[in-house]
Amino acid sequence: MRFYTGLADRAGTDAGVRRVGLLFPALSESGVEMLRQEYERELGFAPDVAMIDVEEAVRMAPILSPDAVFGALFQPDGHRVDTVRVMAVLTGELERAGVDVRTSVAAEEAIVTGGRVTGVRTSAGDIAAGAVVNAAGAAARAIGARNGVDIAAVPLLESRFTTEPLPGVGPDLPMMLFFERDLLYLREQAGGLLVGAIEHTIGPRSRVGLADPPRTADLSDHAALEHEELARQLGDVIPVLGTASVRDRASGLPTWTPDGRHILGIAPGIEGYVVLAGCNECCVTHGPGLARIAAELVTAGRTDTDISAYRVDRFADAGADAIQAAAESQYLMRHPPEEGVAATPFGIELP
Ligand SMILES: Cc1cc2nc3c(=O)[nH]c(=O)nc-3n(C[C@H](O)[C@H](O)[C@H](O)COP(=O)(O)OP(=O)(O)OC[C@H]3O[C@@H](n4cnc5c(N)ncnc54)[C@H](O)[C@@H]3O)c2cc1C
Repeated sequence: MRFYTGLADRAGTDAGVRRVGLLFPALSESGVEMLRQEYERELGFAPDVAMIDVEEAVRMAPILSPDAVFGALFQPDGHRVDTVRVMAVLTGELERAGVDVRTSVAAEEAIVTGGRVTGVRTSAGDIAAGAVVNAAGAAARAIGARNGVDIAAVPLLESRFTTEPLPGVGPDLPMMLFFERDLLYLREQAGGLLVGAIEHTIGPRSRVGLADPPRTADLSDHAALEHEELARQLGDVIPVLGTASVRDRASGLPTWTPDGRHILGIAPGIEGYVVLAGCNECCVTHGPGLARIAAELVTAGRTDTDISAYRVDRFADAGADAIQAAAESQYLMRHPPEEGVAATPFGIELP
């Protein structure tokens, strides 16, 4: 968060970073109880979190129907990040610092001589380099394979849609997440709502070819239609959503790992080959911290941070089918096992 707020402070323009908070409305008494458990867990590392009553929740988010909400957990430090704007600001800073930023150039593989990186082969020719970072998202695994680096990051399609502008929806609306409705999440976007959720099953429509994953622009938006149906059903909680017109749909390819942890470190046997992959759909949030560690690995060849849990080769003995199956179960684990009953709203046990 310090990275994003620092960037926004330096930008001098609207960098698309806004502290609006994150609200988890409960839609039943058992939902309140589950949130209370989560609240107690979070107090250990986020002392600002609060359990709030219906009146307070509706004051913060007037689009909520008071009759449908039983209480809420509120994380005041939740920041909205417009990644397109942030990338524009960041690119400007890099260029002013003398970095040569090239877009529309594909990295093909690392050039390795005597067990260490000496360059990178690209669609626009070779570039000499003492280190490379493979942070190619959904393509990280395919690109790694060209140098014999096995990266257990499995892309799975994820969709969201936006609505036309809606009454009561403004830039200060907190982001919201409904763990009792397939983790449907929403936030303000250009006066309307941006809405997504997670799917109950993963089938062929969610999977993509691992050897040559598609570009985001070529993805189908299949899950968005199911999310629209969920959003209509949420009309009892957010009446404006029940009848909202859809403005656009889009999909992306976050990557999942068999144990739900990121993959970060130097590839075994190739000095200077840094892997930063396996976002587990949270690397707008975690990306800056992970990238700082990757930068230390590039500049110093080591880091003082303990990244042993993220070791690149920790799945070396697992076959491709086992990796795919475990990564998919990590995706699905975020659903509470039964409505209103789970260890945490995300189903994930932290160490
Ligand atoms: C619907 C949806 C909602 C999400 N919500 C959240 C959220 O609320 N919070 C959160 O933290 N995260 C969220 N995420 C996940 C987040 O978008 C990802 O975790 C994050 O984008 C991963 O960052 P990355 O840089 O690792 O990969 P990417 O963002 O995928 O970037 C990889 C880049 O590598 C480029 N590339 C690929 N191949 C090559 C090549 N051969 N040469 C050069 N470049 C290449 C790609 O063009 C791309 O620009 C969401 C994702 C989706 C789809």
